[in-house]
Amino acid sequence: KVRVRFAPSPTGPLHIGGVRTALFNYLFAKKHKGDFVLRIEDTDQNRYVEGAEEYIVEALNWCGIPFDEGPGKNEKFGPYRQSERKHMYKQYADQLIAEGKAYYAFDTSEELDAHRKQHEAEGKTFIYNWHNREKGRLVNSLVLTEEETQAKIDAGEDYVVRFKSPQDETLHLKDIIRGDISIDTNILDDKILFKSDGMPTYHLANIVDDYLMEITHVIRGEEWLPSLALHNLLYDAFGWDIPEFAHLPLILKPNPATYINKSTIYKFTELYTEEALENSDYKEDEIRKFIRFVFENPKNISQSIKINDNKDSHLKKDLKAFLKKGLYGKLSKRDGDKLGFPVFPLEWVDQKTNEVARGYKEDGYFAEAVVNFLAFLGWNPGTEQEIFSLDELVEAFNLSKVNKAGARFDPDKTKWFNHHYMQQQLDLDLAKEFQAKNILLKDIDVHYIALVIGLIKERATFVSDFWELSHFFFVSPTDYDEKASKKAIKDDTADILNQVVGLVNATEDFTVENLQTNIKGWITDNEIGFGKVMMPLRLALVGALQGPDVFDIMFMIGQAETAKRIEALVK
Ligand code: GLU
Repeated sequence: KVRVRFAPSPTGPLHIGGVRTALFNYLFAKKHKGDFVLRIEDTDQNRYVEGAEEYIVEALNWCGIPFDEGPGKNEKFGPYRQSERKHMYKQYADQLIAEGKAYYAFDTSEELDAHRKQHEAEGKTFIYNWHNREKGRLVNSLVLTEEETQAKIDAGEDYVVRFKSPQDETLHLKDIIRGDISIDTNILDDKILFKSDGMPTYHLANIVDDYLMEITHVIRGEEWLPSLALHNLLYDAFGWDIPEFAHLPLILKPNPATYINKSTIYKFTELYTEEALENSDYKEDEIRKFIRFVFENPKNISQSIKINDNKDSHLKKDLKAFLKKGLYGKLSKRDGDKLGFPVFPLEWVDQKTNEVARGYKEDGYFAEAVVNFLAFLGWNPGTEQEIFSLDELVEAFNLSKVNKAGARFDPDKTKWFNHHYMQQQLDLDLAKEFQAKNILLKDIDVHYIALVIGLIKERATFVSDFWELSHFFFVSPTDYDEKASKKAIKDDTADILNQVVGLVNATEDFTVENLQTNIKGWITDNEIGFGKVMMPLRLALVGALQGPDVFDIMFMIGQAETAKRIEALVK
């Protein structure tokens, strides 16, 4: 039976990259009628953040992708918090030591730093593995006698347990998305598995738990790909079956062309000049000018760099690196505020700084839209279809269709999805939300609001767009758009509108159809230009030349209000 897990560390709010990982796990589990497990990886107590676990659970629930098994739910393989499983890990570290597959190391961080420095001075990199572990001045149970080792442990000296990675082997790793990967074991560090404070590291706890929880597929972000070799070695060392792995592509910052404006240019220039200056001999204003140039030609950055080719190559290299990092790199938790879109599913208030990180929910996104755009971050169905409900995603999802290449985040597309899902909502639900958010609507019949929403939501992306699009259904215009007035009001406008008021008052059964027949009929009979009537009429009703159909508006606001508004403009 397929069993997958989402294993976040509760170090803060879950950003959309994390939610994407959870979603792909969920889709894969549901597709194969398997289980989706939530495991909280909180072995690093220093990075633990209050409220993060609750946030993770709430975020999954809001997205509609709840876990089947996890803290407080179907605890078949529990507990699901690693801090509560603490007692389970030591025996596995001990087992590897007893079998000679791991060893104790007593080197202090100062000593390790010194080794690193010395290697550097000799032009080498220090790797704690067979290259060094039994030579030099490293202090571990491979060079100490059993008695010496025990004496140190008994004396309460800090130790770590390191995994003994093999020499001169080539590992053949498998990844569902990336295919076969070969790794030379000589580049691997002897990673730490366990510490004397009684806590396992991520690597040991993760493998032990995946084994004990009978996980069949590990689906996680690309940032864990470098750990794959060690994880394979650990499974082998324990003699356990290796689960299948799938590493999801990075999520990249949006294309700069979609969010760049003058102030962004300025901000980035400010932000990065220092960094760029550090590594180059260029004058600040020179760099500024260049950055500005590059920003103003964002369509093709490498080309714009070429244009400036006569400038020197140092600066070019610096900037290329910086642009890559600053503009094209991995989407980071801080990008949301910088680039003007949320990167978290739900709002998060930092307890220490009180800083608020925006959330998709609070910004007015529908969960369906968020799920739909997240699904496309690294996956596509291979057809033209873009709109997928969660059920349709489950049906269509396939790990082998996930891309290797980084997935570019696109805020405009995200809005496009939201606009789509807006149209699917019930008008009455939207009306309730709109009313709750707007004090001016407090006493208005929610069914009337729902009718209004039916007329305007086609042009709305968020509920917060509603007021701008619909205020004239609720309150008469207090002023008239200047440009619109110039365009709509002519010498004969007063005369025309006075006649329209007559028609309005004469329309006994005040329906859209009757209004249309009467007013349009009158226009045709008298051979008046259509615009000469409709433009000032719209101006009178709306205050501007926008909005839905004029006859719909008249019908909605009613006969008396219609007449009143027209008269107000004529006066
Ligand atoms: N705790 C790790 C994280 O925070 C889990 C990585 C994995 O899925 O193996 O992403």
